[in-house]
Amino acid sequence: MINSRNIGDLAHTVRIRVEDFLLVCQKQNIDLLITSTYRDIESQDALYAQGRTAPGKIVTNAKGGQSFHNFRCAIDVVPLVNGKPIWDGNDPIWAKLGALGKDIGLDWAGEWKTFKELAHFQYTGGLTIDDLKAGKTIG
Ligand SMILES: [Zn+2]
Repeated sequence: MINSRNIGDLAHTVRIRVEDFLLVCQKQNIDLLITSTYRDIESQDALYAQGRTAPGKIVTNAKGGQSFHNFRCAIDVVPLVNGKPIWDGNDPIWAKLGALGKDIGLDWAGEWKTFKELAHFQYTGGLTIDDLKAGKTIG
């Protein structure tokens, strides 16, 4: 079961953008702690079970194979200010982080209507999950 925090496990074009994102944030005195990059199907299924058939609260709507994490296209982050993670979603730093990510060309789940997730950024190159399942790659 793999739940990586390593940006080396991202698709190349995603990794390039994430590296830019980290640099731009650093210039704004925001360090990012990456809590997830690539997850395998088994790991995604375990996450999906959380809050449903396993203890904890629901953290995802995606079963194994339905998340861009499964295709090396997504990261979850938490901003660190003075070394401390800011988990409070009402903290204005999240909006700033979202804007910085979007400037780089990442999609930010913090403004999604269906399953808003402040921590989640992705780059899909216009591909859908079905495209990726069919074997298309973003490089
Ligand atoms: Zn995510």
